[in-house]
Amino acid sequence: NRQVRLAKRPVGRPDDSTWEITSEPIPEPSDGEFTVKVDYVSLDPAMRGWLDDVKSYVPPVAIGEVMRTHAVGRVVASKNAKFPEGQLVSGQFGVQEYALSDGRGALAVDESLAPAPTWLGALGFPGMTAYFGLTDVGRLEKGDTVLISGAAGAVGSIAGQIAKLKGATVIGVAGGPEKCAWLTEDLGFDAAIDYKSESVGKALRAAAPDGIDIYFDNVGGEILDAALARLRKNARVALCGAISGYNATDPQPGPSRYLSLLVNRASMTGFIVFDYLDRFPEGMEAMSEWIRAGEIVTREQVETGGVEAFGRTLNLLFDGANTGKLVLKIS
Ligand code: NDP
Repeated sequence: NRQVRLAKRPVGRPDDSTWEITSEPIPEPSDGEFTVKVDYVSLDPAMRGWLDDVKSYVPPVAIGEVMRTHAVGRVVASKNAKFPEGQLVSGQFGVQEYALSDGRGALAVDESLAPAPTWLGALGFPGMTAYFGLTDVGRLEKGDTVLISGAAGAVGSIAGQIAKLKGATVIGVAGGPEKCAWLTEDLGFDAAIDYKSESVGKALRAAAPDGIDIYFDNVGGEILDAALARLRKNARVALCGAISGYNATDPQPGPSRYLSLLVNRASMTGFIVFDYLDRFPEGMEAMSEWIRAGEIVTREQVETGGVEAFGRTLNLLFDGANTGKLVLKIS
């Protein structure tokens, strides 16, 4: 059972010295447990935060610990009646070829609804982040103008489509012409801004002349500042993430336009998808229905190479080299 463990806390961008590959015997289940052969693991920007020894919403991954991640795999040995041999399951199984689970946090996966990788994307935490971030934190209403950064990623691409389904005008910010074309041509976004080749502020003035009601922020930094400048009265900023600063070694300067929150009686609210665990059935039902009806495009980028490829695959997120949900095939 080969595993990826945290070897050294990175300063800035993780590299080869951050990880070590170890091997141990395949675990055998005791009563109530089952062994999963991991098929796909999730790669998440938040992983960068889990590598730092700082206080956060979850404890850091310890040095020598198997890297934490959500994964999908098949039960290969079971002493747990709820998860019989052959069942496909998702759960926090870690970056390894085989995992032992007692069923806590594990979910039986319905392969007839969507293939395994989608259960790490639209039907996993990214999808639920998009759903609750927009509907609950952003208090989305029909007719709103919604701006989404990181729009061609796992969370952003789903958030934008939910906003469209709920009757909003949606503008996405993403890096590069291919991603922007995907947003407007395949996902139904009303406009897309390529932040790598145009001024977000200027493009946003053109795309949303009356301003925005919701900013769903995945990236922070300069794009957040440009968005703040365009808030309408009573606008909501859902602070989902700030990937532009995750590898920074110095504290990032604050947004210079934050007084726009005051002028516009707007609010900016941080949230963690785990806060909504008890409401996941609602989000999963909505998402499943949209997928069944073909109303939401789900896209995963499946990288190969097994556990050895984990470190390099994770960094694709920070290079913007993924479209949709990034997953790594383990076996
Ligand atoms: P994505 O699939 O969106 O991948 C990350 C994307 O971020 C890249 O593809 C890249 O797209 C963009 N990016 C990278 N660096 C920069 C930069 N410097 N400036 C602007 N954009 C950049 O990842 P996820 O959908 O999984 O996560 C999106 C965000 O949501 C992250 O900030 C993550 O931490 C957050 N999140 C928060 C959760 C919560 O509970 N609050 C739960 C899950 C995710 P591009 O080519 O467009 O630059």
